[in-house]
Amino acid sequence: MNIPETSVPRIVIIGGGFAGISFIKKLQKEKVQIVLFDRHNYHTFQPLLYQVSTAGLEPDSIAYPLRKIFRKNMDFHFRMAEVENIDADTNTISTSVGSLKYDYLIIATGTRTNFFGNESIAENSMPMKTIPQALNIRSLMLQNIEKADITSDETERKRLLNFVIAGAGPTGVELAGALAEFRKGILENDYPELEEEEMNVHLIEGLDRVLPPMSETVSKKAQKFLENLGVQVHLETFISDYDGKTVTTKDGKKFETATFIWAAGVTGAPIKGISGEALVEKANRYRVDEFNKVKGFENIYALGDIALMENKEYPKGHPQVAQPAIQQGKHLGKNFRKILKGAPIEPFKYFDKGTMATVGRNKAVVDIGKLHFGGAIAWFLWMFVHLWFLVGFRNRVVTFFNWTYSYINYDRAARLIIRPFKK
Ligand SMILES: Cc1cc2nc3c(=O)[nH]c(=O)nc-3n(C[C@H](O)[C@H](O)[C@H](O)COP(=O)(O)OP(=O)(O)OC[C@H]3O[C@@H](n4cnc5c(N)ncnc54)[C@H](O)[C@@H]3O)c2cc1C
Repeated sequence: MNIPETSVPRIVIIGGGFAGISFIKKLQKEKVQIVLFDRHNYHTFQPLLYQVSTAGLEPDSIAYPLRKIFRKNMDFHFRMAEVENIDADTNTISTSVGSLKYDYLIIATGTRTNFFGNESIAENSMPMKTIPQALNIRSLMLQNIEKADITSDETERKRLLNFVIAGAGPTGVELAGALAEFRKGILENDYPELEEEEMNVHLIEGLDRVLPPMSETVSKKAQKFLENLGVQVHLETFISDYDGKTVTTKDGKKFETATFIWAAGVTGAPIKGISGEALVEKANRYRVDEFNKVKGFENIYALGDIALMENKEYPKGHPQVAQPAIQQGKHLGKNFRKILKGAPIEPFKYFDKGTMATVGRNKAVVDIGKLHFGGAIAWFLWMFVHLWFLVGFRNRVVTFFNWTYSYINYDRAARLIIRPFKK
């Protein structure tokens, strides 16, 4: 794969997500060879995927070329490839473009969508974990509205304008809010033949409240925001099937829909070759010690969503969100500087900066320590934080411009069916 032989330690990183890039940034001045693998040639800012799906932002605004982030590193090598296997006995990884030996291996592969073994849902629903998937949702949503505009069959029109989202975690709530705003701002202006009331957004959640990982106070607020926007929230409702036309729930409800978005869960994305006590099979996450070292291995580390660090405060590991991934990446990077000098290393301690989710314009909710609030201030805070963490100055400027434009005009600029969605 054309990686030069080296006399300095070779650190191989799998995954250019939050954890992987935070780790590499800390090693830019060290005498090491860094090799990064990712199946995409860009970093994805997943918290804003829902805005791509609902035509609020262009995909380029939330992606950034991985080569460009590290273009100033002299001994940095990126390869766009799928890593398929790890052979820890020979310190070798196998990828879709060949094999490579490592001195240290950092696994930062994040998660993949969890369909909980339901094949028909996996086959027929729309997941939202990558930019291509978000673009599929955008195309399908717009195609279905276009079809609804020309159909004279009322039942079919209802099905085309019925949007069903599974899972009321932050992703589901944000999607539902954005779709409801789409109906309000776009449908009534650009589709004069369609009535606003004809488009329905259903949000279905198995637990007894929306945003289950957040406080009850903000859960209630978020549900109220959603209902005020016209989203129909169905709690304690388990989805059992979707055959491409009808969503069926365990208690026998049926929702006819042509757009069923699955935002009901993720599971780790481990790589073949590491198993036994190192892999917690239920969660598909690698068990790591307080230094992010994978249990049972001397030179393999795991970071972010894929890492399960059990301790008193987090007996089931850290939440699978951006902050633990960023903090672990930075921390291990600093520890590696010490490892390379033979100095003692520090255990990882997570600093919880709070959680937030947005429902729509002037409607977000925030939990920070004992503070739980919602509304316009929370929304501005949400926007500021997301702009701050977005990778790349250009992306920040473009996103800020888009948000300001949409705020003033109630518009969604990216309503384009560039690559029509086909099953
Ligand atoms: C829709 C959505 C919304 C979210 N919203 C929020 C939010 O609002 N706030 C928040 O804090 N968190 C949010 N999260 C969670 C957050 O994005 C993750 O916790 C975070 O991205 C984890 O970082 P990571 O580096 O561990 O993994 P990721 O960022 O997922 O990166 C993993 C990388 O590894 C690559 N990869 C995986 N397997 C392989 C392989 N075998 N070969 C090659 N490359 C591979 C992937 O392509 C990817 O680039 C959201 C997640 C999703 C999906």
